[in-house]
Amino acid sequence: MMTDGSPLAVAMEEEESTAVAMEVEESPSPSITPRDPPKIQRLEESVVNRIAAGEVIQRPVSAVKELVENSLDADSTSISVTVKDGGLKLIQVSDDGHGIRREDLPILCERHTTSKLRKYEDLFSLSSMGFRGEALASMTYVAHVTVTTITKGQIHGHRVSYRDGVMEHEPKACAAVKGTQIMVENLFYNMIARRKTLQNSADDYGKIVDLLSRMAIHHNNVSFSCRKHGAVKADVHSVVSSSRLDSIRAVYGVSVAKSLIKVEVSSGESSGCAFDMEGFVSNSNYVAKKTILVLFINDRLVECSALKRAIEIVYAATLPKASKPFVYMSINLPREHVDINIHPTKKEVSLLNQEIMIEMIQSEVELKLRNTNDTRTFQEQKVEYIQSTLKSSRSDTPVSPLPSGQKTPKVPVHKMVRTDSSDPAGRLHAFLQPKPHNLPDNVSSLNAVRSSIRQRRNPKETADLSSVQELLSGVDSCCHPGLLETVKNCTYVGMADDVFALVQYQTHLYLANVVNLSKELMYQQTLRRFAHFNAIQLSDPAPLSELILLALQEEDLDPENYEKDHLKERIAEMNTELLKEQVEMLEEYFSVFIDSDGNLSRLPVILDQYTPDMDRVPEFLLCLGNDVEWEDEKACFQGVAAAIGNFYAMHPPLLPNPSGDGVRFYTKTCEKSSQENPALGGNVEMESVLDQELLSDAESAWAQREWSIQHVLFPSMRLFLKPPASMASNGTFVKVASLEKLYKIFERC
Ligand code: ADP
Ligand code: MG
Repeated sequence: MMTDGSPLAVAMEEEESTAVAMEVEESPSPSITPRDPPKIQRLEESVVNRIAAGEVIQRPVSAVKELVENSLDADSTSISVTVKDGGLKLIQVSDDGHGIRREDLPILCERHTTSKLRKYEDLFSLSSMGFRGEALASMTYVAHVTVTTITKGQIHGHRVSYRDGVMEHEPKACAAVKGTQIMVENLFYNMIARRKTLQNSADDYGKIVDLLSRMAIHHNNVSFSCRKHGAVKADVHSVVSSSRLDSIRAVYGVSVAKSLIKVEVSSGESSGCAFDMEGFVSNSNYVAKKTILVLFINDRLVECSALKRAIEIVYAATLPKASKPFVYMSINLPREHVDINIHPTKKEVSLLNQEIMIEMIQSEVELKLRNTNDTRTFQEQKVEYIQSTLKSSRSDTPVSPLPSGQKTPKVPVHKMVRTDSSDPAGRLHAFLQPKPHNLPDNVSSLNAVRSSIRQRRNPKETADLSSVQELLSGVDSCCHPGLLETVKNCTYVGMADDVFALVQYQTHLYLANVVNLSKELMYQQTLRRFAHFNAIQLSDPAPLSELILLALQEEDLDPENYEKDHLKERIAEMNTELLKEQVEMLEEYFSVFIDSDGNLSRLPVILDQYTPDMDRVPEFLLCLGNDVEWEDEKACFQGVAAAIGNFYAMHPPLLPNPSGDGVRFYTKTCEKSSQENPALGGNVEMESVLDQELLSDAESAWAQREWSIQHVLFPSMRLFLKPPASMASNGTFVKVASLEKLYKIFERC
């Protein structure tokens, strides 16, 4: 939300340009004459403060967050926000909290003045949002701030304006309602570049609405409102409620609230990390293109990309028509496990035992999703029935405000829900007859929608082809329970070489062959997602026959043998023909799409966030054409799944690993021009140069693979892999050390 690098970048540009200007003044031609070291000077305090302020208040939404947090810290039960011009002209936050004492007003906006922290140790028992005493001060360095406040028992309030940390005048007595009102006007009036960037971006109001929506659903004991200056209607409006679901309904709408499942984890002490989580996650009825993760840790609104990714992986793999989820989670940890002092805006927190927590949450979400997924057919039909009968009797019930703050036409992503029973207009259900099961056959324009809905409604309809079920039970029955435990609970340490990863499980260290593991995982996932894949569209569809020929040429590098080449062409042709006969099956069941011109144009998504190495397409096609037994259904599915598994496996990239010895591959030897040094006469000197382009390709391919191994392969393996018994003996898992044994060795020393 607030990490947008641009304002920071702008701030840095500003600093740099002043530094350059100073340099030029001191030394007119620095590039020619070596100059004396420039003099170090103490920056004026106002400059220091303004630079610091720019970090705390990066954009209008950061100011709103700080002000609202102050209101929450002041025990308010009602907070309203008014915004003009995306927050650049005005941000006004009014609350009904305890107010500020008259005698504190003179230092209120100085840096490091706070009522929430006395000594450093307090940080570890702090329950307030703020503690740095920086926010209000920062605002006065980049805007005009006016505070109106009244404390309990006073007959009148006080109003005072601030600039650069100090009061502009003595506080004036004024009429006031309970609490505090803070007005921030002309934000960044003295930071021209930042103001310009923000003026152009125009989406800050949306960010503010998003922030308040998130705050409102978590702090459901406080009522929130947010509106544009002069607008009658609020874009966020929540009332105090004892039910979290009610607040979600009020803020994000009925359709979102209706598609939520409750999730809860209580880790207990034994797992090594004590935490409680409770929240809501969307079920299969919810459809959106972007994940919404509303995450609070110890009541702080934070972001955690690792958790977000972990949840997305579960959705992609569990729901047949994978949608991005809506997730609200509140995690509570012992305060000493969270370091809140990591970021000036306190947006990022770091946690002890993050990995274990994420895995426990992943498992809970997966379990709940699977359970609801099983009963989904029944539920959806029921909902549909109620809807279609209610359709005529429903008048326009009030719809909750649009959290994005747009007037009407732009539907925020989190509102794009296909199964919204509250809004029949323009939706398939609106056309349905009261009879739930019979879609009228003559609605031909709806065919596409129907088929996708049918797929969502009956996820197993096509996948219950008994041969696939048999293959899946085969996977289950071969599973090695000990390895399963290891895979589920191991921690990834790092790559030991190109193929083996080092993993730790309990007191043991293992080398795990990532190629074998990923191949098996992809094979199993192909069977599990059979007929329900999302697709990767290839930007350049490639002709089958050429690809297969390419693969055949790599099989045998003997260029002289013309006979063989001819043979290869024939084999390529044959295989192409064979695959062309199977296009329908390949598309329907495996999402491998070959168009009418014989070009491969689409591939399945096996694991979210992972695309296979396209250099391996030729080999894949050859394998499909050559190795699959097409006649027998079960053998055929198994063959195709194995070919896909092999293709998607995380093989080492084809370019050698540039770190270590592999770098030799990128070194070319060429003649060095001897003109510079005539003393060498006619001697030709050889020089080694690195092929930079190839090297950087290789570096990024290897880095990408390692990222995928850590962030896609291992998390997915923990969830889905059923390791076959053969892996215990074929070198896929090799135990390299046990802590107990290591201790013995140490003891002897
Ligand atoms: P911090 O929140 O880190 O203490 P701030 O600069 O945000 O620092 O606020 C400084 C102090 O001003 C707070 O400690 C609090 O005592 C007081 N304050 C700010 N806003 C409010 C408010 N809305 N109601 C009551 N007191 C407030
Ligand atoms: Mg504060």
